[in-house]
Amino acid sequence: MATRRKFLADCGMFAGSAGFSYLALNRLSWSGPEKKPGKKSPMSLSFRPYELHLRHVFTLASGSRSVTPAMLTEIRFEDTVGYGEASMPPYLGESVESVTGFLKKVDLSHFDSPFFVEEIVAYIDSLAPGNHAAKASVDIALHDLVGKLMNQPWYRIWGLDPRKTPNTSFTIGIDTAEVVKEKVREAAPFRILKVKLGQKNDREMIETVRSQTDKPLCVDVNQGWTDKKMALEMIHWLKEQGVVFVEQPMPKESVDDIAWLTANSPLPVIADEAIQTAADFSKIQGAYSGINVKLMKCGGMHAAYTMISMARAMNMKVMIGCMTETSCAVSAAAQLSPLADWADLDGNLLINNDLFDGIKIMDGKIMLNELPGIGITKK
Ligand code: MG
Repeated sequence: MATRRKFLADCGMFAGSAGFSYLALNRLSWSGPEKKPGKKSPMSLSFRPYELHLRHVFTLASGSRSVTPAMLTEIRFEDTVGYGEASMPPYLGESVESVTGFLKKVDLSHFDSPFFVEEIVAYIDSLAPGNHAAKASVDIALHDLVGKLMNQPWYRIWGLDPRKTPNTSFTIGIDTAEVVKEKVREAAPFRILKVKLGQKNDREMIETVRSQTDKPLCVDVNQGWTDKKMALEMIHWLKEQGVVFVEQPMPKESVDDIAWLTANSPLPVIADEAIQTAADFSKIQGAYSGINVKLMKCGGMHAAYTMISMARAMNMKVMIGCMTETSCAVSAAAQLSPLADWADLDGNLLINNDLFDGIKIMDGKIMLNELPGIGITKK
């Protein structure tokens, strides 16, 4: 086993240094016991629902909630287990029922080797349209498994420099002035704060935050503004308040208005709700300065890597974000963070029943660890 792992580890280093292609992993096709016709596949998927408990009631322009349903997945291959997760905030349209229905369709016995990542991800994607969080839960578990078999963390398999991780923002939800102040105090270790806007008290929210800190801010409007001229006026004011970018200022359908806003905006305008998967690039082309990539939106690490490459080819900014999630999905996303301009990977910090230990935040910066796969251990 040790020799095999060493071989796989060396291949991982090579893949990283030569520029990454998922197809290169096919060369590592499993050399273990041969699969006999009729014999059970060495790879198996299991899953169970889990409820994420939020530390604070979470308010967005679209509503409030105190729990988020999730699904925990495992892919087992011989004596190695990869962990994954689907998080299902209600606005994404997925639920425990829909994710369970999707995962029941997954049959990994088609594949002898977990290293056929490209093929396995394409197979998962072909099972149904949508279901991106469900797809992400399989994709993350597969990446964790493959990284563990290679004895390498994914940032290294991709050839990324762990010193280039960005600072992560910490999210301040819409709330009363007292709670906002408390959250800003709680966010002391962070160097950038993300303030949720999109309601009538936007200026008051910013002024409340500013009464506590002079750190750089970014804002997420969650499609809350409807008038482009008012939006532009607000962005100019926000720039004076030390805001560095604006996320999804207007409804995703208002592409022409957003394109006008971006062309005139003194701050970068980032698409979140407007771009879910790589297929959405055609809808937003020219309308935004950058994109917010999230594993739960796009279907996992493979899709996120592709989207980031596409965004860079189009000279767009990249932000890597998350939902409320355990350290499992957050650490998976963090593996990609050296590729991003900004990160918003605080989803695990917003819950009080995390099942995993993973990436850490030190002085506001994402610290990737040396653990293989997605860098987590079960608590
Ligand atoms: Mg957002």
